[in-house]
Amino acid sequence: QALLARIKRLDGELNSLITVTPEQALESADNADAARARGDAARLNGLPLAIKDLFCTEGVKTSAGSRMLDNFIAPFDATVVEKLKAAGTVSLGKTNLDEFAMGSSNENSFYGPVKNPWDTGAVPGGSSGGSAAAVAAGLVPAAMGTDTGGSIRQPAAFCGITGLKPTYGRVSRYGIIAYASSLDQAGPMARTAEDCAHLLGAIAGHDLRDSTSVARGVPDYTAELGAPLTGLKIGLPKEYFGDGLDPEVESAVREAVKVYESLGATVREVSLPHTHYAIPAYYVIAPAEASSNLSRYDGVRFGHRCDNPADLIDLYKRSRAEGFGEEVKRRILIGTHTLSEGFFDAYYKKAQQVRRLIRQDFLDAFEEVDVLMGPTSPTPAFDLGANKDPVSMYLQDIYTIAVNLAGIPGISVPAGFVGKRPAEGRPIGLQILGTHFAESRLLNVAHQFQ
Ligand code: GLN
Repeated sequence: QALLARIKRLDGELNSLITVTPEQALESADNADAARARGDAARLNGLPLAIKDLFCTEGVKTSAGSRMLDNFIAPFDATVVEKLKAAGTVSLGKTNLDEFAMGSSNENSFYGPVKNPWDTGAVPGGSSGGSAAAVAAGLVPAAMGTDTGGSIRQPAAFCGITGLKPTYGRVSRYGIIAYASSLDQAGPMARTAEDCAHLLGAIAGHDLRDSTSVARGVPDYTAELGAPLTGLKIGLPKEYFGDGLDPEVESAVREAVKVYESLGATVREVSLPHTHYAIPAYYVIAPAEASSNLSRYDGVRFGHRCDNPADLIDLYKRSRAEGFGEEVKRRILIGTHTLSEGFFDAYYKKAQQVRRLIRQDFLDAFEEVDVLMGPTSPTPAFDLGANKDPVSMYLQDIYTIAVNLAGIPGISVPAGFVGKRPAEGRPIGLQILGTHFAESRLLNVAHQFQ
C-alpha cells in the first residue's frame, strides 16, 4: 500500500508505469502474508516489483508500448512471470518501454516518454526505461527488463541502478513479446547486485516451451557473493575507451577499476578487434528478425484493427500503418529489405558471419582474463528530445550490443555521478562482462563494488 501510494504521488510525472494493478497486488500481498503465517513462505515472499510491459501477464494488458497492442489482454503468463508468482512476489504493474523494445531512450513509447528520476529533463534510457526509472524512484525495489542490444544495462546506467543481462538461453523467452529472437534475453533490474542475484535465481532455468533455453542447473547466485577477488584478471577492451567516450564517464570507470585493484585484482588491456562492426551487424540482424516477428500483427487475430476495411489487403495495410510507430516501421522496412531475394547474401548472411567473429573476439579475450570492464554507455543520460537522429541513437549502444551478438552475460552497476555528486549530475554506469554462464562471478564482482 505504501508503494501504491508512492506510485500515485510520483508516477504522474515520471510515467514509468503503463498499467498499475492495485487489486491484484493487494491480493497477492495477502496471499504472501497467509503463506508466511502458514510457515511456507516462498523465497521472495511478498517482494513487490514491476514487470516490463513486454512480458505477457494473464488478465492484464500487455501493450509492448505500442498502439498495436493497446487493447491486448494477455491470456497467459510468460514463464518469467509464472516463476516470479511462484516465488511469492507481488507485481504492482507493467512498466513503460520503447515500442516493441526498439529504442535507447524510452521516447518511442505510444504511452509517452519516461522521465529520469535523477533529472526530469533527461531520458531514463531504453528500452527498459520504465523499469529503471521505477526502481530508481523507489516505486518498487526491483523490476524485470529485457535486453536485446543493451535495454537492461543502458537504462540501469542512466538511472543509477544495477541491471543484469543473463547469458542467452539462461532465462526462458516464452511469453515475452519477441523483438529479435536470437538476441532477446530477460533479466533483473534492482538497486544492488545482491538483489539481482536473488531475482535471477527465481527466473532462470530450462523451459520446455522455449527451445533456446538451456538445460543446465540453476546455481544459488548468492553463494559466491563476497568471495575474495584476489587474483581476478580484469581486461579493459581498448576499443571501449576510444573516440566518442565522455571524459567524465571514462574517469568514473577508471576510478572503479582502481577500486578492484585495491581488492587484489590485476588489470590489463585487451582487444576486441571487431567491435567496430557490432552496430552495423546488429542493425541488419535485429530488424530482420523483428520484421519476421512483427508479421503476426495483421489486424486479424489480435491487436489493433482499422475501421471499415475495404478488403483483406486494406485491413492489413491500414491496421499496421495505424498500429505501429515510426521507429517500428523503419525497422520493418530495413528487415524486409535485408531479407529479400538478391540482398540476403550481401546483408543478412554477411552480418551472421560478422556476428561469429564478434563472438570469437570475446572467447579469445576470456582465454586471457576473467572479466571485461568498461563503460555501459558512451555518455550519461541525455536530454529528452535531444537525440533526434536514428543513427546517433543507434550509436548509444556501442558498448552493449556486441554482448547480445555473442550471447554472453553483462551487468551494469552504478559508478558515480557526473561532477561526482548526485546533486550535481546524472548517474554513470560501469559495465562488467563475463563468459557464457558466468553470472555468479559477475554478480560477485559487481557486489564488491557496492
Ligand atoms: N537500442 C537497441 C535497439 O533499439 C536495443 C534495444 C533493446 O535492447 N531492446 O534495438
